[in-house]
Amino acid sequence: MSIAEIDLHSALKKYFGFSGFKGLQEEVIKNVVAGNNTFVIMPTGGGKSLCYQLPALIKEGTAIVVSPLIALMKNQVDAIRAVSENEGVAHVLNSSLNKTEVKRVKDDITNGITKLLYVAPESLTKEEYVDFLRTVKISFMAVDEAHCISEWGHDFRPEYRNLKTIIKRIGDNIPIVGLTATATEKVQEDILKSLGMPNAVTFKASFNRPNLYYEVRPKTKNVDSDIIRFVKQNEGKSGIIYCLSRKRVEELSQVLQVNGIKAVPYHAGLDAKTRVKHQDMFLMEDTDVVVATIAFGMGIDKPDVRFVIHHDIPKSIESYYQETGRAGRDGGEGHCLAYYAYKDIEKLEKFMAGKPVAEQEIGHALLQEVVAFSETSVSRRKFILHYFGEEFDNATGEGGDMDDNVRHPKKQVEAQDDVQTL
Ligand code: ADP
Ligand code: MG
Repeated sequence: MSIAEIDLHSALKKYFGFSGFKGLQEEVIKNVVAGNNTFVIMPTGGGKSLCYQLPALIKEGTAIVVSPLIALMKNQVDAIRAVSENEGVAHVLNSSLNKTEVKRVKDDITNGITKLLYVAPESLTKEEYVDFLRTVKISFMAVDEAHCISEWGHDFRPEYRNLKTIIKRIGDNIPIVGLTATATEKVQEDILKSLGMPNAVTFKASFNRPNLYYEVRPKTKNVDSDIIRFVKQNEGKSGIIYCLSRKRVEELSQVLQVNGIKAVPYHAGLDAKTRVKHQDMFLMEDTDVVVATIAFGMGIDKPDVRFVIHHDIPKSIESYYQETGRAGRDGGEGHCLAYYAYKDIEKLEKFMAGKPVAEQEIGHALLQEVVAFSETSVSRRKFILHYFGEEFDNATGEGGDMDDNVRHPKKQVEAQDDVQTL
């Protein structure tokens, strides 16, 4: 190991207590430390935060971290502060700060104490902040959840669109680090273009999740009793059941409760207190199952979720991958079961009807992939990884037999059977 490598390892140990890097982290970090534009594509849980946190801590100046979720920023700031002698090492800059607090943040940055400054993209549009940031030393700019910049992503945020202009205003040659768990080609192109870094060094980790078992079942009118049977067979295990509508979430969680299953609902229509309570019940194992809309999940890190059921098929392969990805984070068993009926696709199409044409076209294209995935007879894993631009060989790849189509191949119709006798 070179001296620089030893330094990175000791910094890793010192600040985070980890004894080694995960996956591509070390290469990424060297590249960020070197001041290059960097693009990091790693699945959720891959360890993207460290790719900017560690360089920020060892580089001169303050790194600006753009992230869409205030709760996630707060968690990260608390974690960094916990291992540092100085509380000012990390700050969040947002609209909830009063004048005194803003002054404290500015002073800490000016005095070189703050290594990480977390900001929501909308806060960066404030003239006052931009004018201030122009005057201080910025080590680099990290854009977390960078897919929010793309309409092809599953979580488009218009505020992300202005980032390129804002970064330029803060400084001319600020290195940019974009990070995302979205692996589709379209989104990647969008990110590089929208952040204005076509020359970025790109690091892409594999999206294979070998411990997850993928299964799609046809959705019949017996779907609820099928789900009850599945959950009962997995008694005591934690699971998430996704439904499209709040109404269905309420209905299904009641049906499960009536059948003696510990289940709670979660959707954006519940008041904040109830949502937090239900989320905590899940984390503390006071309930086995959360029946939820997609409002549930972002930032929830329960390592031992043993199954994710899609009562309704999601609107894109990416959403499916993100949502199923919440199973088996600890590397243990994770059963991903989706129910599919073409009627549900038509329902999703209808939802898009009022939207701008361009958005409808994107939505339609994404849905067609969902149809193809649901109806395919090839390996689900192979399909997903192909969608993300990865070749997968079921014979040699990890988890090669972990889906319904590989375990129970649909009977191929022999050509001669098709010939009608005249
Ligand atoms: P991502 O943003 O890619 O979803 P995170 O940055 O949230 O992933 O990291 C996921 C988990 O992995 C966190 O609990 C983090 O502490 C842990 N982690 C990251 N890097 C390492 C490492 N080198 N060694 C051990 N654990 C790590
Ligand atoms: Mg992350």
